[in-house]
Amino acid sequence: MRYVSTRGQAAPRNFEAVLLAGLAEDGGLFVPETWPTLTTAEWRALRGLPYPALAARILSLFGAGDLPLQAICEDAYAGFGHPAVVPLVQLDHRTFALELFHGPTLAFKDMALQVLGRMFDHVLERRGERVTIVGATSGDTGSAAIEACRDRAAVDIVILHPENRTSEVQRRQMTTVLAPNVKNIAVQGDFDACQDLVKAMFNDAPFRAEMHLSAVNSINWARIAAQVPYYVAAALALGAPDREVAVSVPTGNFGNVLAAWVARRMGLPISHFIIGSNRNDILARFLASNDMSALPVEPSLSPSMDIQVSSNFERLLFELLGRDAAATAETMTRFRAEGRMPVPDAAWKQAAALFTGFTLDDEGTLAEIRRLWTTAGYLADPHTAVGTAAARALAPADAAIPVIVAATAHPAKFPDAVERATGIRPPLPARLADLYDREERFGVMPNDLGAIEAAVRAHARRNAA
Ligand SMILES: *Cc1c(COP(=O)(O)O)cnc(C)c1O
Repeated sequence: MRYVSTRGQAAPRNFEAVLLAGLAEDGGLFVPETWPTLTTAEWRALRGLPYPALAARILSLFGAGDLPLQAICEDAYAGFGHPAVVPLVQLDHRTFALELFHGPTLAFKDMALQVLGRMFDHVLERRGERVTIVGATSGDTGSAAIEACRDRAAVDIVILHPENRTSEVQRRQMTTVLAPNVKNIAVQGDFDACQDLVKAMFNDAPFRAEMHLSAVNSINWARIAAQVPYYVAAALALGAPDREVAVSVPTGNFGNVLAAWVARRMGLPISHFIIGSNRNDILARFLASNDMSALPVEPSLSPSMDIQVSSNFERLLFELLGRDAAATAETMTRFRAEGRMPVPDAAWKQAAALFTGFTLDDEGTLAEIRRLWTTAGYLADPHTAVGTAAARALAPADAAIPVIVAATAHPAKFPDAVERATGIRPPLPARLADLYDREERFGVMPNDLGAIEAAVRAHARRNAA
């Protein structure tokens, strides 16, 4: 299978090259040249597979078959806190939470990143190469990246976080990982300062080349591919391919809901896509009235969705525009310049026929957490609650269609909001219960590019000899 860029100016390449490249050199995102599809009989034959085997099978359809997928997936999900890996929990007569948060950092990004870290390592070792991953985090993505890269032989990772500006759980999830290839730096500055430092390191061409800098950001195709299998698992469990299902996904960068759309494109009968947003509701505005205009980001109780530009939307746009790369490039360029995306009416109508958007403010989010607790005895985190509220508001008229809600974070990851809503402070799962007693290791450094680059160099050189 070959991959092409949504902007048409990058040479096609295979899965492995796309995994290492992340973004295409023309600024576009990689997508499969043709979508793999399965017949009804082939979907049925996947029923009952253990999750790692199912994930390996789906990933092989995306051209990852040169990698030892079965071993990678078994290893990636071995440490998850539930034997089903992605259990379904029924919330009412037709709504099911698909729990994606049983991984090491208690949020759904582990689902893809645990696989990606191992894929990276495998490819790099075979090529005799190493990379240094650098990233900035306001809290959550840093820990998922660290857990994905810890103890990988061909990878070093340095994560910058703003000193004293993450929650203690968030900081400890990063700083208690004592693997020798992991370095945490608390920067004396805010998150923007951390992000600017990372950008400056990538823009420092000699440094970038010397360190083999890389990122594991959410535009990497392999992350999308590794998120498709859980929608397949849930749909099959609820009767697909012989029954239609709907999905409701609390959405930020559009990666998670795009993975569900990919499953549909492969032939899985997902009939409705419900997108939940907090007050940062660019996608809901787009779907309601073809208004894709960026506004300033506002903080909310669901911080992982505090995003105004959903970078993975470009992949759907490319499809809506009939895979016209020139039109996609022009649309994205105008969006960047003008802050408003000019989507042709016909393309918007096509999107609005499949996707619907729902917006929930903080008060509504707390009310939904409370309602889930009182009606179903279910403790949901604020992101998941946006998804369940959206599912209730926009469920398909045909009640025979079950709605799968992506439960994206463990309630213990956002204990303050859950306690405010229910009076109950959700405990950390047993495997993390001693988080507050573990040894932490991190450096504190000034907001100074030269000093940070020196620290990255020292860390990456540590075992280069
Ligand atoms: C990242 C994240 C989201 C948003 O996912 P996207 O793929 O960016 O749409 C939702 N909930 C949680 C808990 C997350 O960490």
